[in-house]
Amino acid sequence: MSTRQSKNPQIKLAPKTDWLPQNNRPLVIAGPCSAESEEQLLQTAMEVSKIPDVTIFRAGIWKPRTRPNDFEGIGVKGLQWLKKVKEKTNLKVAIEVANQRHVFEALKYNVDIFWIGARTTVNPFSVQEIADALQGADVPVWVKNPVNPDLHLWIGALERLNKAGITRLGAIHRGFSTHENTPYRNAPKWDIAIELKRLVPELPILCDPSHIAGKREYLPTLSQKAFDLAMNGLMIETHIEPDTALSDASQQIKPEALKDLLGNLQFRKSNGNDVPVDDLLETLRSESNSIDYELIEVISRRMEVVKKIGLYKKDHNMTIFQVKRWKHLIDDRLEKASKFGLDKKFVKNVYQLLHNYSIRVQSDVMNKKANF
Ligand code: PEP
Ligand code: MN
Repeated sequence: MSTRQSKNPQIKLAPKTDWLPQNNRPLVIAGPCSAESEEQLLQTAMEVSKIPDVTIFRAGIWKPRTRPNDFEGIGVKGLQWLKKVKEKTNLKVAIEVANQRHVFEALKYNVDIFWIGARTTVNPFSVQEIADALQGADVPVWVKNPVNPDLHLWIGALERLNKAGITRLGAIHRGFSTHENTPYRNAPKWDIAIELKRLVPELPILCDPSHIAGKREYLPTLSQKAFDLAMNGLMIETHIEPDTALSDASQQIKPEALKDLLGNLQFRKSNGNDVPVDDLLETLRSESNSIDYELIEVISRRMEVVKKIGLYKKDHNMTIFQVKRWKHLIDDRLEKASKFGLDKKFVKNVYQLLHNYSIRVQSDVMNKKANF
């Protein structure tokens, strides 16, 4: 993971700062994960347009799905429906674009705002293709973080768009794919969004708690956290009948639930640059906690392998302690650790502890005490 500005320190980003709500209110984008039917879009849009902070209506027209037989979006037909949404409400409309064709079709139908999805941000070729297609189109573009926790990839995508003349630029924090145990669909890793804010303070950042959460019950806490971290607003998936949604059903909420949710949030006034120190400390601590959990998982995986080695040695009538192997192991690990700048004495102590524990586990296996 790379979250710090270690490589490529010179960030070339000059986003405009005057296109967001000027009334110290959050910017809220709401609408369904996917456009499914004209009625679904119009009914949802009519309801969310009554909520004061919601000014932009979202709908996925082409959906990047993990498996090929899932609903992959309604396609161009949905752009016609979005035109109707614009005629019937005061909302602007936003869609996800993932290639050049999407951009050209959307521009034809006067889509107001574009966003780049997490699966697209990971691919510089795709982002460049979209940036080229957008050249000369003066539209706002929001860039979701890449699925993997790589801040530079996120910044790189924003730079490509900026270089193509897009100045109304923003970032959307939607969490990261990880093998860590978290209650969420995507780990928030708030520190990465905070670091982006620190590096490019004038860049607006929205939070997409829907894709972080995966379940609607987590939306209030995540949304409040985003506001506490001085984010500029939210993108929340909203559907007139969430349980029947063709994608992301369990994380979508009804318009009336969105109204309640927003009504209960505290949007703190911020000059846009300051991230509260306590929150920074808290996010660093939570990052360190999750690294510790990974460490525990890794040690437990190592011990599972050690048990298998113990069984092998038992079957082949070998001694547990093999001096040549131990000597090779410790030399190899110390060399590796020193490449990461770790203190040799400390690493040697850790390995002695690990080795002792491994011997204990293997002798349990030999004496049939271990559980399989
Ligand atoms: C979406 O917004 O519906 C979507 C596909 O999101 P993400 O790119 O964050 O997965
Ligand atoms: Mn979705």
